[in-house]
Amino acid sequence: NVISSFSLSSWGTSKINLSLERASSTALKEKSLPTYKGAIIKGKTTILKKLLKYIKDRSFLIVDDSKTATLINMLTLKKHYPNVKIITAKNGVEGLEQLKNDRSIKLILTDYEMPQMDGLQFIKKVREKYSLDEKIIIAISSAKEKDISPTLLKVGANDFLTKPFIAEELICRCDNNFKISMLIDEVKELAYRDSLTGLYNRRYFFDMANKLFLTSLRNNRPVTILMCDIDHFKKINDTYGHQIGDSVIQKTAEILQTNIRKNDIVARYGGEEFVLFLYNCSVENGIKVGEKIRKKIKNNRIGSIHYTISIGVSSKGNNVEELLKNADDNLYKAKKTRDKVVGD
Ligand code: GH3
Ligand code: MG
Ligand code: MG
Ligand code: MG
Repeated sequence: NVISSFSLSSWGTSKINLSLERASSTALKEKSLPTYKGAIIKGKTTILKKLLKYIKDRSFLIVDDSKTATLINMLTLKKHYPNVKIITAKNGVEGLEQLKNDRSIKLILTDYEMPQMDGLQFIKKVREKYSLDEKIIIAISSAKEKDISPTLLKVGANDFLTKPFIAEELICRCDNNFKISMLIDEVKELAYRDSLTGLYNRRYFFDMANKLFLTSLRNNRPVTILMCDIDHFKKINDTYGHQIGDSVIQKTAEILQTNIRKNDIVARYGGEEFVLFLYNCSVENGIKVGEKIRKKIKNNRIGSIHYTISIGVSSKGNNVEELLKNADDNLYKAKKTRDKVVGD
């Protein structure tokens, strides 16, 4: 039979994806496989397209000790989400390993009864690290373990399926959870972005900076904060009008964004104030970054307007608040002459 001729991922995966397409049509005719007609999303191609785009570069993880169950679920998922990479694991321990190896895993389908580490322990472990919207977990338990479903949900499964289930139900559960996750992402994006510049806002800055600061403490890395404030901005507004003022803010945001590294954070702190969080960066290098930005802005023209920026730099402080306070004190010093970078 088709199923037993397969060898699976952690039992050795590479061949499976190649043979999958060929085998799926045969396999779907088998009595053991319910046919999936894709009826749920028929006529809703826009949502489906959006959804497929959303999960395009993500992978799925199937954690199950049964080869047959793994293969059936794999075929179902492969059929509905053709471009997604599917990874398998035989138990919770292997599942955790796979999560460590592949950061792009978005969906986890996990069985309950498995040797070494069962679904319950596995979900608990995953949730110690990842939130409900970072990793979607669909737990599977069999009908005779009725009471296990609420337990799995309580420890952090997003959803569950009771065995036996048909392919269509699995797909419905996956699609629904992707839709929720997509909405959460959209809301987060709205909550975290400044609409004028497209930069992150103050809220995101505090959320991320606090996390990154703790990481930097653990890894013994220096962190430097830059507080930037456009000079005499009120005069730009008064002379040229608010719209031009807005473009000056936008251009400044662009210059800041293009002069930092990938792991750094730049956010609009307030009106014409910006904050930079430089990860793994000493105060000396922070001052260099500040100087580079100061010069770029001084040499930049928006029509006939030229303007300057003042920057306060600091790496002193036991937390983000203290660093900000020190950077702000230095900004205050820089404002005495303006067009200046002051750091300690
Ligand atoms: P200083 O050199 O001391 O920093 O002086 P300044 O004029 O830049 O600072 P001040 O704080 O007095 O003025 C900032 C101005 O920025 C006041 C406010 O109207 C303007 N502003 C705040 N947000 C926006 C915005 O989104 N768009 C525009 N066009 N102006 C804004
Ligand atoms: Mg099992
Ligand atoms: Mg200001
Ligand atoms: Mg200002």
